[in-house]
Amino acid sequence: MEPRIISLEMRDYIAEMGAETVNWCMQCGLCTNLCPWRLVPGETSAKFNIRHMQRLGQLGMEGFEEEEILFACSTCGMCQSNCPRGVKIVDNVRAMRAGIVGAGMAPAHLRPILGSTHANGNPWAGPRQKRTEWQGKMEVPNFTPDMEYFLFVCCHSCYDPRSTRIARSIVRLLQQAGVSFGVIGIEESCCGETIHKMGDEELFQKLAHSNIRLFNERGVRKIVTTSPHCLWTFKNEYPQWGGEWEVSHYTQLLSRLVKEGRLSFPGEFARKIAFHDPCYLGRQSGIFEDPRDLLGSVAGVESLELGRSGPLSLCCAGGGGRIWGEVPMGERFGELRITDAVELGAQVLTTACPYCVNMLTDACTSLGKQESLEILELSEVLAKAL
Ligand code: SF4
Ligand code: SF4
Repeated sequence: MEPRIISLEMRDYIAEMGAETVNWCMQCGLCTNLCPWRLVPGETSAKFNIRHMQRLGQLGMEGFEEEEILFACSTCGMCQSNCPRGVKIVDNVRAMRAGIVGAGMAPAHLRPILGSTHANGNPWAGPRQKRTEWQGKMEVPNFTPDMEYFLFVCCHSCYDPRSTRIARSIVRLLQQAGVSFGVIGIEESCCGETIHKMGDEELFQKLAHSNIRLFNERGVRKIVTTSPHCLWTFKNEYPQWGGEWEVSHYTQLLSRLVKEGRLSFPGEFARKIAFHDPCYLGRQSGIFEDPRDLLGSVAGVESLELGRSGPLSLCCAGGGGRIWGEVPMGERFGELRITDAVELGAQVLTTACPYCVNMLTDACTSLGKQESLEILELSEVLAKAL
């Protein structure tokens, strides 16, 4: 039976935190049917119901018991893409989480992540002084105001050993095309996208203000990001506080450079390759063609199209703080994606997001498919053909 007591105080707080549309929900349940949690078995799947969560929001969280369920949403946005009332479900989930985190009750597995971001400016427990160690022996210029682009490298690609390869591939491609760019380095902080979605409003604003001050002081005009999560946040969240730059994802910039004849791939990479649309690049930012155009410009690549791709792309489950969640084998969205790619006959599954690479690689390993399917970030595929 659903709760009937309304906590007006909490309801007002949630609305203030951004759940402005929660009362538009008429409980039709279409969102629940689109959610990838419906596609996997297990305890979380059995309990997770996004329609019910909207009802909890309307009631000011009365009846809310399990923080694990509220924090199971990956903020992929699939549910809200077909809501007949235009309910901004992801904003509502974030605002409800803010009610929990703001009261000091963040789930135990997320507390070290928030603690590291407070202390180091990134969620990966990486010391600030080591933020540029991903560069290895590469010569990556420091940003100066006469440069065209400031390259913002996602914290994941600064500190996660696998992910640092993505940042280096992107640098190689930008250098090959003769792009004028540089990095700022140790003074940069996390863009805060995931921190915000996890519900820590205060910490998110602290990160955003610090970055905006830094970027503006340094004379940044154009930003190119390695991750779609940073892209989305700089474009959609920072302008309200004076962070107004031209922002693009690296796939947008490279695709344009290829069209202008400033970048080409003399080598070849003879593989059957399927592209997985990251939620924050595709559905959330509307960028579907640029990565596909780039793949199509490499000799030898046979592009395969996955089912449930484009605006209907299946989430890897790494967003909204889920990259730090423990999910038993057999219950991971990424495993469905690996099966999609294997059944299609792909030799490589590529994507354009460091979180997706992480989640898909884990899923590929848990299914024991790493011998037949390679997971590569798109920049790595392109760099192989330079
Ligand atoms: S699809 Fe929209 S209106 Fe229907 S239950 Fe979900 S949020 Fe509510
Ligand atoms: S954002 Fe994605 S994971 Fe979260 S409820 Fe909607 S469809 Fe499910």
